[in-house]
This record gives sequence, structure tokens and C-alpha cells, in this order.
Amino acid sequence: MDNTTRIFRIEGVNSGEIITKAARIIQQGGTVAFPTETVYGLGADALNPEAVRKIFKAKGRPLDNPLIVHIADIEQLEVIASDVPGIAHALMDAFWPGPLTMIFKRKDIVPDVTTCGLDTVAVRMPDNPIALGLIREAGTPIAAPSANISGRPSPTTAEHVISDLAGRIDAVIDGGAVRVGVESTVLDMTPDIPVLLRPGGVSIDQIREYVGDVVIGYTDRAAGAGEVVRSPGLKYTHYSPETRLVLVMGNSSAVVDKISELAREYGDRNIRVGLLVTDETAGTDEMAGYVSKGGVFLLGSRYDASAIASNLFAGLRYLDMEDVDVIIADGSMGIAGIGAAVLNRLKKAADELIEVH
Ligand code: AMP
Ligand code: MG
Repeated sequence: MDNTTRIFRIEGVNSGEIITKAARIIQQGGTVAFPTETVYGLGADALNPEAVRKIFKAKGRPLDNPLIVHIADIEQLEVIASDVPGIAHALMDAFWPGPLTMIFKRKDIVPDVTTCGLDTVAVRMPDNPIALGLIREAGTPIAAPSANISGRPSPTTAEHVISDLAGRIDAVIDGGAVRVGVESTVLDMTPDIPVLLRPGGVSIDQIREYVGDVVIGYTDRAAGAGEVVRSPGLKYTHYSPETRLVLVMGNSSAVVDKISELAREYGDRNIRVGLLVTDETAGTDEMAGYVSKGGVFLLGSRYDASAIASNLFAGLRYLDMEDVDVIIADGSMGIAGIGAAVLNRLKKAADELIEVH
């Protein structure tokens, strides 16, 4: 952990060589951050308890928050999971490789530290050639939570990983910015009716096309102390910039009115404001005076939730580094498709939520 972190930059033809070097580190029980289609993951051999412990240590991750195990083919699923229901195979055919994590009964080969002692294991097949190549070459399933310090916004570029974890991990593969930008959807397949534990890259409507009934098992806020949660990760605050974050949600014109009102009030009190806003909000007359001042990050169109998802965490990190006292975030995107995941992350990151109509 006190050694330097190697940075492997993918530049076209060298990817095979880099994957071989990185796979060697995984086989030797080390940690490698790598791009997936969702966010950058911090990987270690999922079947090697010593290696998995290094992930928790590097991230400062609570020891009761289990990891997602990444696989490159269905044979690896059979190594780690049992009692996989038929409906799960339909979902795999539809969404793997891709941003859907499914929870199954685990086999004994999976060490306790990977699942935090649960009798279930979370599994997904990432849709990224570097990630798949690394898992294949390492010849073992790779446990990989997001490659950030626990609680901070997830990393969507190698620079984000380096800023959080340099010196704490063995290597990072820089494969450029990720595509999806928010984490995978987590679906518990062990009950008769699957339970959605985290909204993510695959939307609930997409899942409902294959599964008759889905129970919503998450809330958009961190659970209170002592509250019983189905997925340990639901307990923790997440994605938070260090700067205070105020989220304004509701219909778009009311959101614009409220954001401009807040920006004016803060300005009057000499409180420096950062704006995390959609293109449409930024383009209104009300916002013109504030948008020209800097400390603004454009999320993309409010009607393009995928674009917003891919910009969200970079925006939180960017504004966190600007010299501002408060970040006002625009929650005017809908919850359709990946919008549900975007609003879930924003609500979990927010210190204050203002709903307007
Ligand atoms: P991360 O790897 O940081 O994206 O978080 C993985 C998420 O999946 C967390 O919310 C975990 O609590 C959840 N998770 C992982 N394994 C299990 C499991 N066996 N049962 C329930 N939730 C899980
Ligand atoms: Mg995470």
C-alpha cells in the first residue's frame, strides 16, 4: 500500500500487453483498477481472501458491504453461484455483458470476505473489452467495487481513480472515460419474486419485459441507524462531494425558478455557488447572470438521461474542486430509463433536498 501505483495507458495496439501485465498482478494477489462500461472498478481475485481484503483497505470500505464479482463467461458463474433460476438465464441473455448485477446463492469457493459472510453472491458480466480481457487472462472471477474512496462520487475516468487511490493500489488501466457513468442495476434473484436493490444502467422497465413482477427494495436515501436493510450498501451515504449539495427537484420551470432564487440569495450572502445544471436550465433567461460567472457544470439535456448519467459523477467531482461553498444541483430530469438511477445518486449525495411544484 505504500508503493507507487503503476499507470497503464491503453493506446490502441498495446492493450494485449497491458492486460497481460495487469492480469499477472491480479493472479499474484494485487489490486488493479480498470474501466467497465458503468464506472471504474477496483479489482482483485474474488477467490483470494488476502487480495479481496486489500480492496476494502484501499477504499476504506465498511467491512459489511459486500462486493460484486465480475465474470467473463457463464462457466465462471457456475464456479461461484448455485440455484440459478431459469428467469435469470433469460435476463443474462438479454443484458449480459452489461450493467445488470444479479444476486444468487453462493458456493463455498467464494471466501467470506468477498460476500461479507452472506450466503449469497452478487455477479455481473461487464460490457467492456478491457474488463473482459482482464478477467479472462487472470483466469479467475474479479471482485470489483467502484474504484473510489468509500462515500465519494464513483470514478468515471482513470484520473478520478488516481486522485482517490494513488499509492493505495498496485495499478490502474487507463481506458478513457466510461460509457454509462452510473453503477449497475442490482437485482436479488434469490426470492421467488426478484427484488430491485439498486437502480442502475438497466432500467426497471427493461427488466419487466423479461420478469413478470419485480419488488422495489431500495429507497433514495441512506437508511437510518438500526434500520434493517436487504442490501448492506443501502445503509451508507454515497457519492458525496465534500462541498454541501442542495438538490432541487420537481417540474422544470419550478426548478429553474427555485435555482435562480437560491443562487441570488446565496450570492447576496457572499456564499459562492456552483451549479450542476441541465443545458435547458442553464439556457434560461433567469439563469443567464449566474451561468456566466463560472462554477457551472453542464450535465447535458434534461431529455437525455443517458447523457446526464455519463456526466454526473465528473460534474460532482469538478464542482467539488472549484472554489465554491455550496453546489446547487438540477433535479429536473425525469425518472424514465436511467433517469431513476441518476436521481437516486443525486438524492443520496444531497445534504438538502428541495421539492418544488
Ligand atoms: P459497489 O460494488 O460499491 O457498486 O456496491 C455493490 C452493491 O451491491 C452494494 O450496494 C452491496 O451492498 C450490494 N451487494 C453486493 N453483494 C450483495 C449480496 N450478496 N446481497 C445483497 N447486496 C449485495
Ligand atoms: Mg461504490
